[in-house]
Amino acid sequence: GRCVVAVDGPSGSGKSTVSRRLAAGLGARYLDTGAMYRAITWAVLRSGVDLADAESVAKVAGEVDLRIGTDPNGYGVTADGVNVDAEIRGPEVTAAVSAVAAVPAVRALLVARQREMIANAGRIVVEGRDIGSVVAPDADLKVYLTASAAARAARRSAEDASDVAVTAADLARRDRLDSTRKADPLTQAADAVVLDTTELGIDEVVQRLRGLLTE
Ligand code: C5P
Repeated sequence: GRCVVAVDGPSGSGKSTVSRRLAAGLGARYLDTGAMYRAITWAVLRSGVDLADAESVAKVAGEVDLRIGTDPNGYGVTADGVNVDAEIRGPEVTAAVSAVAAVPAVRALLVARQREMIANAGRIVVEGRDIGSVVAPDADLKVYLTASAAARAARRSAEDASDVAVTAADLARRDRLDSTRKADPLTQAADAVVLDTTELGIDEVVQRLRGLLTE
């Protein structure tokens, strides 16, 4: 039957790995909403419009042909026919994404797309910042993953071989922007299960979530 799992939390909380594994184990679809904001940001950067010009940013966002797969074992993102999987993880997009994601018209557009994909999926694990609070408030399970700032920075820099101090500063900057923006800020839904993953392995987190689903 239908089953929607919402996984929210800051960068480096283990969201992506946990969400993909949970979806694969459940035979469910997987939606990485961060990849959608990143792909729009890639298109905005390519267009050359000023990031501070919300109207132009929204216009570019509305014109991009954004496609994203929902296979937990290998999803791809394309923008205007270009595969952007690698570039959306790069430093340019990472530095600009929180500004683009703060534009209300960009959020309205992507939230509508996300809801449509969720409605069509049946069983799906959706990860992001506002899934339990805005995109899918009626989700069957809402999870909020956290971890200490040090653990999150260490994980990210292990993933992409970046400098820990630089990564820590970038995460702190994005956390601040994502939690203080006016439109759909990163928040813990009141009915979310909060899991601190600082001392937990991925498998342990996935196990706990599976346990919550069968309760
Ligand atoms: O999860 P990820 O680090 O790929 O997300 C990149 C950025 O996209 C976040 O820092 C945030 O600004 C934005 N985002 C968002 N809402 C979501 C998912 C991501 O605002 N649901």
